[in-house]
Amino acid sequence: MTAHVGVLALQGDTREHLAALREAGAEASTVRRLSELQTVDALVIPGGESTAMSHLLREFDLLEPLRARIAEGMPCYGSCAGMILLATDIADAGVPGRAALPLKGIDMTVRRNAFGRQVDSFEGDIDFVGLDEPVHAVFIRAPWVERVGSDVEVLARADGHIVAVRQGPMLATAFHPEVTGDRRVHKLFVDSL
Ligand code: GLN
Repeated sequence: MTAHVGVLALQGDTREHLAALREAGAEASTVRRLSELQTVDALVIPGGESTAMSHLLREFDLLEPLRARIAEGMPCYGSCAGMILLATDIADAGVPGRAALPLKGIDMTVRRNAFGRQVDSFEGDIDFVGLDEPVHAVFIRAPWVERVGSDVEVLARADGHIVAVRQGPMLATAFHPEVTGDRRVHKLFVDSL
């Protein structure tokens, strides 16, 4: 059966993910309300601004329901801001009351805007575990992963920093595969469902 994948659409780059998921063989639709969250098989949390997304999750009463579905093992793929939100711990999360809130899907510490302090945006080809050819990775004020738990598989690094991980049904990348037209990362996620 074709998996139905939601794209969290409170803020951020949802359109590209919907297209990428469909090209990767999934049914895809946006998630903005509880009824939509409850009916999808899996969820993509896109790039954008993790502090704004956290605020909106709380405003729309989606924070705890989403945490509950993640705790139950709903497969998620987070890119950039989505990677930040999937973490158990966020470094440099932002000012109290407006901070990025961890959804605790992957046992890792992610530092917000980690590359951003050095250079705002950059791209490059990186090796990715499970893919034969390197991935052209686009980083936009990107985070990196500072710590991973023992159950977390590191899939890719850039400049020595961890930028892609998997833990069970959860996948996260610090970069944006949805903007390149290369659907292999989305396919990896969809094929795992
Ligand atoms: N810097 C953003 C954040 O903290 C992430 C940037 C992105 O998603 N491209 O959420």
